[in-house]
Amino acid sequence: MAARERAYFRAFRRVTTVVNSDAALKEVLDAIVRGTSRAMQAGVSLVLLDASREKLVHCCSWGLPRAYLQKGVLDARRSLAEVVTGQPVAISDVARDGRIQYSELAAKAGIVSMLGVPLVMKGMAVGSLRVYSRQRTEFSKQETNFVTAMANLAAVAIERDVQRQPGPPAGAQAGGALLRQARTAAFAHPSEEEFARILDFYNVEWIYEPRSFPLRWQGDVVTEMFTPDFYLPGFDLYVELTALKQSLVTEKNRKLRRLRELYPDVRITLLYKKDIHRLLAKYGFGPLAQARGRGVGRVLYSSVEIEQQVRKLAEQLSHDYADRHPVMVGVLRGVFCFMADLVRHMTIPVDVEFMAISYYGGATTASVKITKDMDLNAAGRHVIMVEDIVDTGLTLSYLLSHLMAKGPASVAVCALLDKRVRRIVNVPLDYIGFEVPDEFVVGYGLDYDEEYRNLPFIAILGSL
Ligand code: 5GP
Repeated sequence: MAARERAYFRAFRRVTTVVNSDAALKEVLDAIVRGTSRAMQAGVSLVLLDASREKLVHCCSWGLPRAYLQKGVLDARRSLAEVVTGQPVAISDVARDGRIQYSELAAKAGIVSMLGVPLVMKGMAVGSLRVYSRQRTEFSKQETNFVTAMANLAAVAIERDVQRQPGPPAGAQAGGALLRQARTAAFAHPSEEEFARILDFYNVEWIYEPRSFPLRWQGDVVTEMFTPDFYLPGFDLYVELTALKQSLVTEKNRKLRRLRELYPDVRITLLYKKDIHRLLAKYGFGPLAQARGRGVGRVLYSSVEIEQQVRKLAEQLSHDYADRHPVMVGVLRGVFCFMADLVRHMTIPVDVEFMAISYYGGATTASVKITKDMDLNAAGRHVIMVEDIVDTGLTLSYLLSHLMAKGPASVAVCALLDKRVRRIVNVPLDYIGFEVPDEFVVGYGLDYDEEYRNLPFIAILGSL
């Protein structure tokens, strides 16, 4: 047997042993990538499609420099075509081939030739296994067949893992759900892991440290880089967390400013430790979740100011929806005061509906769930979502995607309070009562640990 064939055989023996064990999916995919890399004597990476099937996200790799891996999310249409066509694609000269999205970075990493084979599950391409060679290689039929067999093993492992999870994903969502399960993040800091749990909780897709942005150069050499902690492909947004001392936060802010100057199209937001604690507190974790009896601090809006503003919103809605008989949908429970006052000031016929959501906590299964859906059929109707407060926007974005699936004629959002400074995801608000500062507010329906809902005014919660 030739040396090459022996290497393939050894790789199969090692990889199938791991596939056939009860190892976690991460370990199985790592073994496949490593085995392929050793047998091919080249760098190998496994990329998966996100839920939109437009972006390719790095899952695991072997034998490739970090700078190349953190080149960013790949556009599935501009990247190698194997995921779109379902056929292997080989490129013998990366430097001279227009099909490579990051040819300059590839050249810097010493990559000369590439082979990509699709990862196919139930006839649908969900990702790709890619080989990056440092020598010019015309990939033979035998090599392509070997990599295809490894990709098939990866697809089998992923599919088996999907079946183990409750509520297997279907159709277009498959890619995104796979990504979540197959993702192999090693978090540098516990707050990053907590934030990832929050995103999972809201069903928001995330990728950990997908891209490094060069910030400074000396000649050709990059002297300063910045790697944001997370990328949320669904919102095209990078998120940097900071749980650090003020002096280090200042440094981070400087880097962020530079990044925004150099890459004006890149959207990035900075989240502070207290933001993460507040998010965690929503589902009972973290230091804020245990805090009690804080008392009410400064009043932000008196009951008179609230009434005037709610009246204005009602007039505007009555005018805009004069002939459309809208369905007003409130999200319980914080909205109950606002909804009751708003509809009473409206001068057109409206239907009133409520939805209820719950935040379920849990180490792996945490999620936001709709515990009471609309009773009315929303298809073809003009829907107005009524919210007490929009903070990060995560709840609203989840609810809007749920609502859009019902086929309404139109959807608008009316929020009493807009805490814009803390927005993570960009949700369109059509009608806004007040823009509130970055403070935790209570009263007029809004609670802190079920207290203060019945206050007639809106106040900032007192400090501990
Ligand atoms: P988002 O998903 O936009 O971060 O959060 C929206 C939900 O968080 C609101 O419906 C509300 O339940 C809660 N929330 C956000 N900020 C505040 C606040 O300042 N006070 C109170 N009581 N709840 C808030």
